[in-house]
Amino acid sequence: MPELPEVETIACGLRPELEGREFVAVDVRNSGSVHGDRHAFDCCVLNRRITTVGRRGKLLLIHLAAPEDDDTTCKAALEFAETSDLPDMLAFHLRMSGRLFMYDADQPAGVHTRLIFTLDNGRKLFFDDARKFGSCRALSPDSRPLWKFWATLGPEPLEIGRKEFIDLFRGRRKAMKALLLDQTVIAGVGNIYADESLFRAGIRPDTRPAEWSAQAAARRLGRLYDELREVLHESIRECGSSIRDYRDAKGDAGAFQNSFRVYGRSGQQCVVCKDALTTAKVAGRTTVYCVNCQK
Ligand SMILES: [Zn+2]
Repeated sequence: MPELPEVETIACGLRPELEGREFVAVDVRNSGSVHGDRHAFDCCVLNRRITTVGRRGKLLLIHLAAPEDDDTTCKAALEFAETSDLPDMLAFHLRMSGRLFMYDADQPAGVHTRLIFTLDNGRKLFFDDARKFGSCRALSPDSRPLWKFWATLGPEPLEIGRKEFIDLFRGRRKAMKALLLDQTVIAGVGNIYADESLFRAGIRPDTRPAEWSAQAAARRLGRLYDELREVLHESIRECGSSIRDYRDAKGDAGAFQNSFRVYGRSGQQCVVCKDALTTAKVAGRTTVYCVNCQK
């Protein structure tokens, strides 16, 4: 599943292709891939200038210019929508196997192509999703707080301050890894970067901040803050990690999987102490860590 660095890499690839252009057609090949208000999606994403391509947590965002006030087609379409303001954002949730690719005008749809957006220059944005868990939705400023996932997303690890980060985790009763994976605590971290950042910070994935002294909590969480940000930055520089499905917008693989210290290295030597790495289930997910180096 693409995590923060992979979605950031996809956004970087899409930016020069999409910014300043407009979608002139949308082909919904699988209606289940469009979530949220369908009136808003069908009528309001077309013929608006794409202002920026961004990211929030693991969501890929395409921002659209504010529509004209006298846009009667949209207003009529929104008569039955849940809010009366017009969408200014498309949010893609890639989940397990969602991919976004840019193609030339003559590219035929693939077996797993769920949505095709045509740009005003003829280029096409494909949303492919083999397992169909991914989705796209059109959101307006008023509808964003009504989408629970959006409304409860935690802060961005690359934007939050150190003290704020420590306060997020301090005293919590859940296992450290479960907290990192919880999108309402902190956004964008999944199995890969949870395992990698906990290894680098020397923290066992199954320990609970509630069991630490105030001093230990400040020290450990301060170190985790530095290591999590560092591993995310390193991965973004390497264009993300490609395991199984992930590719960037040009179809290229990332390279950070070659720098994994624990993820996917079950039973192999710890890069620090040379002992065999341990595997356990933490927060329902396969977790690899070093019993010597992580306390
Ligand atoms: Zn070790």
